[in-house]
Amino acid sequence: DNTTETLGFQTEVKQLLHLMIHSLYSNKEIFLRELISNASDACDKLRFEAIDHPELLEGGADLGIRVLFDKAARTITISDNGIGMSRDEAVANLGTIARSGTREFFSRLTGDKQKDAQLIGQFGVGFYSSFIVAARVTVLSRRAGLPADQAIRWESTGDGEFTIAPAVKEGRGTDVVLTLREGEDGFLSSWRLREILRRYSDHISLPIRMQKEEWDAEKSESVLKDEEETVNQASALWTRSKSDITDEQYAEFYKHVAHDFEGPLAWTHNRVEGRTEYTQLLYVPRRAPFDMWDRNKKNGVSLYVRRVFIMDDAEQLLPGYLRFVRGVIDSADLPLNVSREILQESRDVRAIREGSAKRVLGLLEDLAENRKEDYATFWAAFGQVLKEGVGEDAANIERIVRLLRFASTHAGNEQTVSLADYVSRMKDGQDKIYYVTAETFAAANSSPHLEIFRKKGIEVLLLTDRVDEWMLSFVTEFDGKPLVSIAKGGLDLGALADEDEKKRQNDVTEEFKPLVERLKTALGERVHDVRVSFRLVDSPSCVVVDEQDMSQHLQRLLRAAGQ
Ligand code: ADP
Ligand code: MG
Repeated sequence: DNTTETLGFQTEVKQLLHLMIHSLYSNKEIFLRELISNASDACDKLRFEAIDHPELLEGGADLGIRVLFDKAARTITISDNGIGMSRDEAVANLGTIARSGTREFFSRLTGDKQKDAQLIGQFGVGFYSSFIVAARVTVLSRRAGLPADQAIRWESTGDGEFTIAPAVKEGRGTDVVLTLREGEDGFLSSWRLREILRRYSDHISLPIRMQKEEWDAEKSESVLKDEEETVNQASALWTRSKSDITDEQYAEFYKHVAHDFEGPLAWTHNRVEGRTEYTQLLYVPRRAPFDMWDRNKKNGVSLYVRRVFIMDDAEQLLPGYLRFVRGVIDSADLPLNVSREILQESRDVRAIREGSAKRVLGLLEDLAENRKEDYATFWAAFGQVLKEGVGEDAANIERIVRLLRFASTHAGNEQTVSLADYVSRMKDGQDKIYYVTAETFAAANSSPHLEIFRKKGIEVLLLTDRVDEWMLSFVTEFDGKPLVSIAKGGLDLGALADEDEKKRQNDVTEEFKPLVERLKTALGERVHDVRVSFRLVDSPSCVVVDEQDMSQHLQRLLRAAGQ
């Protein structure tokens, strides 16, 4: 057939395929979850496009997925009547990885199977996981709206190249046919496939159908009947009542919506009634995705309207500082043809965003209170993002401030100290919360400004994240106690300085007046002021900035940013 084209996979796909086959082998049954997940996404996309173009549903509005197997041919087929793919879509989607974070992902691979398997998981396995069990993958697909003779046939053995050819396909949608590798015949069993589907795909809201099977006593074997049956619950998970959903089902649904390989850290599931009605099922992942700091990255909450999928990454549904949250919000009020522009203006969406932010903060508070280890995991992955909230969400700033965690002179490098912890450890007579900012923990921890605090046993917070300076411009006090930089201004230890010390300080100040005057003249315009300081114990001198001035750390940051 001279219209068959042979194309090469993008280099990254080749690498990914190789890695996947070798490091995910012990987890090989996940291929089925990935293909079902894609089939479900394809049906969601069709239903969405059909809102404006109902003609796309011609030939059947009954969307569903079918799983077939053929023992003689040694194939498994996953078939859907969703959106399908045109030739160009198939080449792009099944030949490249068009994802942000790809380079970062490849740069982190180590060659250690176990570590790499975990990385691949975080990155997302998807369609290419078929090759873990299949020696050959054939995709027959017809894009909704295109005629039967404009279907395509994509095929690959997973070793560098694929072919693509025109084809004829009766119905709309996609058939993925896996020809199994030697030794994988165990999957050619109704029982085995159903077990995997129940375990991984029960949350899928569309029916997954398989041929019925019955025991034939005469032949003493099970035989396939001409009838079909639905093997999953086929109702959207978030519409079920909490008591009917197991933790495993919640976790598998998370993997589907988040395209994650690992389960979530925590979730909150609620039906909200009242003026604005919606259901939310929101998850906190265990790990930061590769592209968390990418400005173009997608936000993870999908919008549904009365169970119809409307869009991924509806960034209006949650404030930006909660962009690590994944999940689903299903609105009862929005119109089906809602656009991103409408979302921006909608009062319902504003109510959903405020309600959802409160729920997520409540979930984090619960973790911080009752599951401290999980909270530490959360903080390590997303603490820096959450900090943005103090500037972004004035309505919830007090709750966010309570969720902040810091490194300190008492607790060390791990960010584990809350402001409440700090206050509970304050010395008698201490009325301020002290901190120092620097570029690294080592720099903060060896700051000469710390000397007097160490000597007196006063805890100082050590702030080294990029957002900290900015954050502190919004957080000026906690529990009535001002936050004070130990590197700024004339440090007044107030009641913490004892009487003898105060007298000695006055005497010393008098004694050094002539030296201070000489230094002022010598340094001239280059400094604001020269003062005798009592904050140093071992170092002879240090540079400070005025209380109103930018800190040196912030000055360096701005200079680095070209300001
Ligand atoms: P992801 O699902 O995370 O996007 P996958 O590797 O699973 O990544 O799939 C890659 C892409 O291939 C999908 O985004 C989709 O565009 C396309 N695709 C895969 N399976 C199907 C299908 N059954 N129907 C339509 N498109 C599909
Ligand atoms: Mg997928």
